[in-house]
Amino acid sequence: MASSPQLQDRPRVLVVGGGYVGLYVALKLQKKIANAGGIVTLVDPLPYMTYQPFLPEVAGGNIEARHAVVSHRKHLKQTELIQGRVTSIDHASRTAVVAPADGGENFEVPYFDVVVAAGAITRTFPIKGLADKGIGLKTIEEAVALRNGVLERIEAGSLMTDPVERARALTFVVVGGGFAGIECITEMEDLARAAVKNNPASSRRKSASSWSRPWAGSCRKSPPPRPSGLSSTSAAAASRSCSTPPLTTPRAP
Ligand SMILES: Cc1cc2nc3c(=O)[nH]c(=O)nc-3n(C[C@H](O)[C@H](O)[C@H](O)COP(=O)(O)OP(=O)(O)OC[C@H]3O[C@@H](n4cnc5c(N)ncnc54)[C@H](O)[C@@H]3O)c2cc1C
Repeated sequence: MASSPQLQDRPRVLVVGGGYVGLYVALKLQKKIANAGGIVTLVDPLPYMTYQPFLPEVAGGNIEARHAVVSHRKHLKQTELIQGRVTSIDHASRTAVVAPADGGENFEVPYFDVVVAAGAITRTFPIKGLADKGIGLKTIEEAVALRNGVLERIEAGSLMTDPVERARALTFVVVGGGFAGIECITEMEDLARAAVKNNPASSRRKSASSWSRPWAGSCRKSPPPRPSGLSSTSAAAASRSCSTPPLTTPRAP
């Protein structure tokens, strides 16, 4: 184990994760802890917080990706920042082990208090193919990949002459009809309609119907909502194994 790289020698409040919770904890504590002679240290593999509620808008293109992230360095001036991943915490000895993001050797970080705010992992449930083919919606990269995927499918579909192949190319399934899932659908629908409108080779009627049916299908087929709701939502790529039932109007919860 390598020795800690240039860490401040002061009683430490260690914040694991610089997402929504971690960023705000550090922001609110950094001055008070500094005034009391300590230091707040935040560890995250990313140098920014992703504001996840904006991800559907990033996918839809209504918000720029750079406007959905908040720089740690810019907003946490009195916080010690470490770019890396906490791999273990030994609370008996009040020590955490960090794997640096640059691939260097792991090192230990001593602390007085620890706040664990490492977020959640999107669940894919035992839905065949979802883990392999689905695109999550928890990171900027996923939101952009989703947008690119929809636009690329519409371009490809506009050149297809076989109606079955074309319907398949233009069918998207959103797994999870909770708040984030519905937001995702509405943003994707706006995106698709705009792309179809700007593409003379596309038929507006065809693509609109292929949006509605999987929605009804995915609402029925999706697993029961998690108590915490939003973070379980994944946007999945088109899958023909998920057959679509007759069109019905989804009921409000
Ligand atoms: C699409 C979508 C829409 C949403 N819309 C809303 C909404 O409208 N309203 C609302 O209230 N909530 C919404 N949410 C939920 C909200 O974004 C989350 O509840 C919130 O982000 C959780 O904050 P967090 O800090 O616990 O986790 P996150 O914000 O996910 O942050 C976790 C951080 O921990 C880091 N990390 C992970 N592992 C480690 C490790 N080992 N060591 C160090 N760091 C680590 C990650 O890199 C990340 O930066 C939405 C979520 C999604 C996905």
